[in-house]
This record gives sequence, C-alpha cells and structure tokens, in this order.
Amino acid sequence: MHGYAHLFVPGPTNVPEPVRQAMNLPMEDMRAPDFGAFVTPLLDDLRQVFRTRTGRVFVFPSSGTGAWEAAFTNTLSAGDKVLMSRFGQFSGLWVEMAERLGLRPEVVDVEWGKGVPVADYARILGADRAHEIRAVCVTQNETATGVTSDVQAVRAVLDDLGHPALLLVDGVSSIASIPFEMEAWGVDLAVAGSQKGFMLPAGLGLLGVSEKALEAARTATLRRAYFEFSDMIRLNDTGYFPYTPATQLLRGLRVSVDMLLAEGMEAVWTRQHHLAEGVRAAVQAWNGCAIVAAPGFRSDTVTTIRVPDGVDAIQVIRTAYERYRTSLGAGLARLSGKAFRIGHLGSLNEVMLLGAIGAAEMALLDSGARIEAGSGLAAAITHYRNAGTAQQKAA
Ligand SMILES: *Cc1c(COP(=O)(O)O)cnc(C)c1O
Repeated sequence: MHGYAHLFVPGPTNVPEPVRQAMNLPMEDMRAPDFGAFVTPLLDDLRQVFRTRTGRVFVFPSSGTGAWEAAFTNTLSAGDKVLMSRFGQFSGLWVEMAERLGLRPEVVDVEWGKGVPVADYARILGADRAHEIRAVCVTQNETATGVTSDVQAVRAVLDDLGHPALLLVDGVSSIASIPFEMEAWGVDLAVAGSQKGFMLPAGLGLLGVSEKALEAARTATLRRAYFEFSDMIRLNDTGYFPYTPATQLLRGLRVSVDMLLAEGMEAVWTRQHHLAEGVRAAVQAWNGCAIVAAPGFRSDTVTTIRVPDGVDAIQVIRTAYERYRTSLGAGLARLSGKAFRIGHLGSLNEVMLLGAIGAAEMALLDSGARIEAGSGLAAAITHYRNAGTAQQKAA
C-alpha cells in the first residue's frame, strides 16, 4: 500500500512528528535527580492550556475515563446528588459512572443534537434551596453528536442563585482545541485526555482542579485509592509521582504543550473554527446529508453527519477505510448506521481536511448517496480560500 493512511476520528488524533520523535527515547529513571526539574515546569505550563492560575493540573496514567473517576471520587461522597444531562454517548456514560460510584445523579435527558439544558439546570438548581446538589456536570463537547455546550451559561446560573455546587466539566474533546477558560468560567474540575486536543497517544488523563475542589477533597468520602489527589500533590510538589509515570508520554506532552503555547491558545481556537467551517460547508453541500448538531451547538472539533435515507453509514465508514484508507468516526449508539463523524481536532490543516471530505464523498457515492461528485470539496475549497485570504490580510 502506498501513501499514508488517513485518520479522521475524533480521537486518537494525528500525532505531530516532533511529538512522536520526542517520545522515541531510551527508558529513563523516573526517580533520577533531574527528573523533577522536567516535571515541575510541565505541570505548571499545563495550567496555561487549562487557563487557570490558582488551580493545579494532575496528570494520571489513564484514559480520560480515569480522570472522570478521579474527579468524582476525590470531591464527592456516597449518595451525593449531582446534576447531569444526557445527550449522546459520552454524556450518557458519565451518568452511568456516577451511578456506579454510588452518587445520585439527577439526569435531564435532552434530544441528541442539542447540549446542556441551561434553563432546566436553572430551574432545578433554583428549587434546590437546601443545596443538596453537590456538583453540576457539563459535557462541554459531546463527541458522539458533535455538540458544544455553553459552560459559561451554567456558571452564570450558579452565580445568580448563589448555589455552592462544584462545576465539573468533561473537556476531553474540547480542552486544547476550542475556547475553554477554567478560571474565568469558575470551573472546579476539568477533565481532558491526551489523545484528543493534546495530539498524543491515549494514556494520560489530565485534570484541572480548582482550589475549591481541592478543599472539597478534604472531606469527600467516596472510596478512592489510585486516584487519590493528596498522594499526587505530595509527590508532584517535589516534581515526582506516587507511582511509575508514563515517561515517554510526558516527554511527548512537553512538546505538544510547547506547540500549543507557541501557537497561542486563541490561535488554536481560531484555527479549529476555520477548519470546522470548511467541513460544515462541505456537509451542507451534500444533497440529503445533514449536520446532527442543531445550529448554535455545532462543534469545532467533530462533525456528526446524518446520511441520506436508504444509505447505510456503516457501509460508508467501511468503504472509506477499505477502499480509501481513511478512518472516519462511527455513528455511536442510536446514530449507528445513520451517521458518521469527521474528527477535525488536533494537528490538522486545510489540505488534510480536503482529503477527509474527498474520502467521505467517494464513500458516500459508492454507498448509493445521490450527492454530486465534488460538491462538498468545492464548498470547502471556497471556504478555505476565502476565509484563508481574510486571515492572511488580518495578519
Ligand atoms: C473520548 C471522550 C471520553 C472518554 O475518554 P477516554 O480517553 O476514551 O477514556 C469522554 N468524554 C468525551 C467527551 C470524549 O470525547
């Protein structure tokens, strides 16, 4: 097989060459006298990605799911009420975890394609005069449907009501990709994973923790061992970890954080938006296809595309993979067979996305969709050229 295989799933994302090379090094001693001098500035710089000055960032050897668990178990107690909403596979799994851990989630179900129901949250929190709800959960970017929610609006609700609940954000497919302001938005726990916006392999669960959440951890009694914050703090404060850290991944993380900060978080967010607009233009040009996310909720990191009636999205994905060596994201759960996803986060550029759009277009045609060959590509090309020119002029 000649040429590259193409990866356009919303995680794992493409690993930039400098990051990959930084991970290709001999094993090292994680207790070496100079290892701490590597770790301390890394943990410190990560705060710039999460956008917190007063909070701290923990890096666990786990996937994002582990960071979810760390967030819950360190700050809550058995039977605590938590306010959650479910509008896709990931927000749904988060609810399931809360149940398994013995929390009492109050769940608002929302139609898939929309996001966190701010008005419902306001009503429920307003009625909670006894402040029984200890945490409010927001999946900032629902990776199954390609929906972005308004975290700031939930903060405003809590502030207006003077409600003391912790604000927990699943930012696994949004942090390091789209606007996220841990401190300015008053987020208490922010969960991320290495294989999405951080452009690394899976294996690191990252967690931004506010002072208020650290305070809550002093009295929270859910069972925890591996994910205990206080163990992490004790060793991190010296530049080390309470167990063997994933040293290669940390070396890669050093380079990916350097890349993000050199570009500037605002510039990263702008680039992501620009790339996403091209994908959305393409989908809208495909006759019979539709963006699952409602207007106002459309994510700049992943687009979920409903295929025309009579077309099997599983066949589209299989054809893209087998015939065009291109991985597209599957439609998850109730969207299985009905939709596919284009992940457009991480280390990507316009030409790579034209490849994704071209492959999707060919696979759609091969699977019987009556779209016009080149229609999506033409729309994306027009967007990228025009918006690109405007960006160049502004620079
Ligand atoms: C990928 C993802 C997760 C799960 O992360 P893992 O690293 O697979 O454990 C959770 N939430 C969202 C929004 C995700 O995109």
